[in-house]
Amino acid sequence: MKAVDLNGVGMTSMRTRERLVQRLRDEGISDEIVLNVIRTTPRHIFVDEALSHRAYEDTALPIGFNQTLSQPYTVARMTELLLQAGAPRKVLEVGSGSGYQTAVLAQLVNEVYTVERIGPLQEKAKSRMKLLELSNVAFLHTDGGMGWPEKGPFDAIMVTAAPDTIPEALIEQLAIGGRMVIPVGGDKQYLTLVDRTSSGVEIERVEPARFVPLLAGIR
Ligand code: SAH
Repeated sequence: MKAVDLNGVGMTSMRTRERLVQRLRDEGISDEIVLNVIRTTPRHIFVDEALSHRAYEDTALPIGFNQTLSQPYTVARMTELLLQAGAPRKVLEVGSGSGYQTAVLAQLVNEVYTVERIGPLQEKAKSRMKLLELSNVAFLHTDGGMGWPEKGPFDAIMVTAAPDTIPEALIEQLAIGGRMVIPVGGDKQYLTLVDRTSSGVEIERVEPARFVPLLAGIR
């Protein structure tokens, strides 16, 4: 088997990544801890080799099965928003996809629980965690609209596919004081914050977003 180049050369080199980080800064990402993880995480191993030269562009990329690896700006923004509510130790991610967002989270929090409805995508994401030696990630092949009740409550929940309305099951699995970052809506979506308090939830729309839909059932 061919060895995977984690450091990258040419279009995947550190200099190329540095340019991406500068662009994210220009677009308003200000959490330097998040930016540093973006800089050091090899995004090129999360896409097919034929696309690896585009891995450090600020653009979403196809990962098969009609799904996409989110744009770096979106990953950085959602991660920044998730961390702003405090220092979450235990995080649920709904929609592992390529595993890129999972890998970013795994370097910033103690435990990541990630669920994905498409089996083959999950298998690939798993092997990438191994390659990066990120051992604090647990995977489950399930319909993430239900969350992962056995492992909850979570200090934070990140959803990377958009439901029409916020799933009640996810709110229930959020710890008091916890935050969920979730894109909500059909044609017109908004990145939304759901903060659980002792008396209920506070909901805030942050900015327009464009995500693939959260779909029911597994395949
Ligand atoms: N965070 C991913 C983004 C992937 S796109 C990345 O960095 O690559 C969104 C993902 O959510 C897709 O892989 C899709 O299959 C998954 N998804 C959609 N509905 C889901 C559901 N109900 N449960 C779990 N995963 C779901």
